[in-house]
Amino acid sequence: SALPPPRTRIFKIIVIGDSGVGKTCLTFRFCAGRFPEKTEATIGVDFRERLVEIDGEKIKIQLWDTAGQERFRKSMVQHYYRNVHAVVFVYDVTNTASFRSLPAWIEECKQHALGTEVPRILVGNKCDLQDSVQVGTDVAQQFADTHSMPLFETSAKSPNSLGDGSCRDSDHVEAIF
Ligand code: GDP
Ligand code: MG
Repeated sequence: SALPPPRTRIFKIIVIGDSGVGKTCLTFRFCAGRFPEKTEATIGVDFRERLVEIDGEKIKIQLWDTAGQERFRKSMVQHYYRNVHAVVFVYDVTNTASFRSLPAWIEECKQHALGTEVPRILVGNKCDLQDSVQVGTDVAQQFADTHSMPLFETSAKSPNSLGDGSCRDSDHVEAIF
């Protein structure tokens, strides 16, 4: 049946950030286990799910993906921000503008009652593009500290740090969610 087993708890995690930072690729990587061949710009809201087992309990992780710069109708925004267990803010390490947008995304979350009482994490994506990095780890870590968030630098594209040494193990996509 399409219904989940009765005792499966659902954790809703929203993934927020500018268009093009890799939100769709990150959620796809986590839920489908690979980098998508091609992505189309997300229209409105989309979500992907993955079942994980924690301490013998099956938990459904539901990752909500959005179109970064599109404006939603008010009702849509409220639906999106309802019953959220955690927030993931994503920027692109090769795009300073996406990093500068973070305060506005953080503010929008606060307006929907998603402040420091909700687990929030900061993700710098595309760290496989080492030659093009514009947002260094130091400045990102400082920002993360200021906003009381852990920082993960990762890549939706590079499956692990062993292949090319571009990412720290702890920043593997699997470690984030
Ligand atoms: P979204 O708008 O935030 O959902 O971004 P997408 O997931 O659609 O990704 C935007 C573009 O960045 C696409 O061309 C992806 O192939 C590319 N991309 C996403 N993640 C990575 C990554 O980790 N490394 C590299 N090199 N490219 C990425
Ligand atoms: Mg998208």
